[in-house]
Formats: sequence, C-alpha cells, structure tokens
Amino acid sequence: MPRYAYVNDSYIAHRNASVHIEDRGYQFADGVYEVIALINGDLADERGHLDRLERSLAELSIAVPLPRQTLLLKIKELIRRNRLRNANIYIQVTRGVAKRDFKFPDRTRPSLVITAWPFRFDGNTAVEKGAIAVSVPDIRWKRPDIKSVALLPQVLAKQAAAEKGAYEAWMVDSDGYVTEGSSSNAWIVTKQGKIVTHSATQSILRGVTRTAIIRICQELQMAFEERPFTLQEAYAANEAFNTSAVALIVPIVELDGYKIGSGQPGPVARRLYEEYRSYVKEGRSQQLPWTA
Ligand code: PMP
Repeated sequence: MPRYAYVNDSYIAHRNASVHIEDRGYQFADGVYEVIALINGDLADERGHLDRLERSLAELSIAVPLPRQTLLLKIKELIRRNRLRNANIYIQVTRGVAKRDFKFPDRTRPSLVITAWPFRFDGNTAVEKGAIAVSVPDIRWKRPDIKSVALLPQVLAKQAAAEKGAYEAWMVDSDGYVTEGSSSNAWIVTKQGKIVTHSATQSILRGVTRTAIIRICQELQMAFEERPFTLQEAYAANEAFNTSAVALIVPIVELDGYKIGSGQPGPVARRLYEEYRSYVKEGRSQQLPWTA
C-alpha cells in the first residue's frame, strides 16, 4: 500500500485518507480521473493525460482544481514522498462537497485526490505471456469519451471476464463492432498485416497510450487504420492487443475461446511495446498532445 495520498492540499497517511460523505463523486459519480504510468522515474505521456483531464473537466463544467504546472508539482511530490520509481498515478477530481441535489451546486470547490500505487512494468506476466479476453455487450452511457468515474458498466464487464478466467473484457456495440476494452483500447493486426483500432469517436475513450502508439506507427511507417472492427474479424486476426496507461500494451492471445494467431504474443505487439518504452525513456512522450 502507498504511504501517502494527496487529498485537497494535504499529503496524508494513505490509510487515513478520505473524502466527505457528501462529496458528489461519492453521491453521483460526478467526477473524472486520469491514470499516468511512472516508468523508471519518467511520467509517461504526462502532457496527453493532463490535456485529457482538462478536457473531461470542461465537458462536465467542473473547475480545474489546480493549474497544470502546480498539479504536476503535487504529483511529483507525492511520488517523492512514496519513494516510487515504477507506479500508476491516479488523479481524481470531483465537483466537490455539497448538500445532495442533482443539479450543479452554486459554489463548490472541486475535490482533488492523487494516489500512487507501485507497479512492476518489467516482467509483467500479462505483457510477456499474453492475456485472455472475452466479449461483453457495451452497456455504457453515450459519452464514454469523457473519462468519468462512473465506471459501473466496466466494473460489471471486468467481473464477467474474471469469472471466466479472463483478464480483460472487450465491449461490443449494438451493431456488432468492438468499441474498446473495459479499461483499455482494443486493437487487432489483420490478416493483411494492418494495425486497426476503433476511430476516436464519442463511442470510445481516446486513450493517451493509443495516441502515442498511432504516432509510433506513423513514425515507423507501419500500416495502420482507424475504423471499427467486428468480433469475427478479431477472431481471425494475426494479433490482438490492448493499450492503457496501467499496463501499456498487453497482447491478447485468446478471445472468446478462439486462439488469436499463433496463440502467443505476436511480433507487432512486442515491437510496439519496446518502441513505447523507448519513446518514454527518451522523453519523447512528454510533449505529445493527447489529440495528436
Ligand atoms: N478505454 C477505457 C474505457 C479506459 O478505461 C482506458 C484506461 N483508462 C483506456 C481506454 C486507455 O486509455 P489510456 O491509454 O489513456 O490509459
């Protein structure tokens, strides 16, 4: 467990950290969040995550709790106090504490919570051996492009996956297209060798890792296309994988009981993983805008 958490201006012992029962995050899931990977001391894609945080807040008319540079200082201080080099940093902002009433309160200060959980990127079994996914219907609201803390559909999806011994759930819309994973973007490498992921519409969360991988594909001139794909196309793909700040790139070696490609992590996912690690290590991730 981390030693310290940041809660509204204070660094406090993680075990004592709490927010008020009338916080609108608790009452209404009226808030947003971000997860940033800290890899060997580097904050991966910090610019992209902070771009997206500000955009999620703006979409919900929640005030920015701190200017970007101040927020970054708070994050770095929390990392220092927890003595972390490899971690997932969670930043959560809610509309704040107010008497329970659905409409926006007149005056509230947004609540800001930052936690930092140790995470081992090197030797991550899911990355090295690949993982199993199952499909579930995408039952989310119509704005999954906002990174809201209202995650109940994803909680149910992940639980359904866990009950089947799977690591991730791939969500499928009413037209039969895969939107994304419950906490990741979903990708395939087609039989023709093309890398495909769902277009960045309002039906998915535009992943910051997704943006970086697209940039890397362009730099390496790897064939890439943004478009929806079906489960049937995924079952027949050469490779499948998920991207997210938490686990970076996880090869999916089995989907709904179908072996994907050779049933082992494929060369494209492996290469993109190595390239993403270099991109972070070389500091190239720091300035890439979220919507690049
Ligand atoms: N889609 C969903 C639904 C997610 O929850 C996440 C991870 N938060 C992602 C995609 C991946 O986004 P990112 O690469 O920014 O972590």
